[in-house]
Amino acid sequence: MATCLFCEIAQRRRPAEVVLDDPQALAFLDIYPSARGHTLVIPRAHAEYLGELDDALIGPLFQAVKRVTELLQRALGAQGFTVGLNHGRAAGQHVPHLHVHIIPRYAGDRGTGVQGVVRSAPDEPLAQVAAAVRRSAEPRPS
Ligand code: 5GP
Ligand code: ZN
Repeated sequence: MATCLFCEIAQRRRPAEVVLDDPQALAFLDIYPSARGHTLVIPRAHAEYLGELDDALIGPLFQAVKRVTELLQRALGAQGFTVGLNHGRAAGQHVPHLHVHIIPRYAGDRGTGVQGVVRSAPDEPLAQVAAAVRRSAEPRPS
């Protein structure tokens, strides 16, 4: 990949306020924080989506997420966290290098839970949706 913003941060070629520097993952403050301590956790290896990230790197990425929540709780008194990925353009992903947002939550911050990001409940029965998902896990005829 020629120039990826977050690869440049991972390689320390672009400045960032790094809060955790692990062999496989890096955490730094979001430049436009939604709350005090809003942090992005990225794999050092370039991947746009979870499906592109080597399985062996999923654990280290989420271990870093866990560690950052502990640090933010201790350092800033965060009372909770909204943790999430804008995964894909339709979900609002702007930077094409996988990143996990950790947004510290404080009592009375007037934010919502993740269910609040979209309101487009289907009319379809849950059983029908679940059956479609389960079918997609079955091996395809060759
Ligand atoms: P997305 O919308 O892709 O999920 O979020 C990308 C996030 O990266 C945004 O919240 C944005 O503020 C943050 N961001 C974009 N460019 C930079 C940068 O150069 N440095 C840092 N620290 N954060 C950035
Ligand atoms: Zn990248």
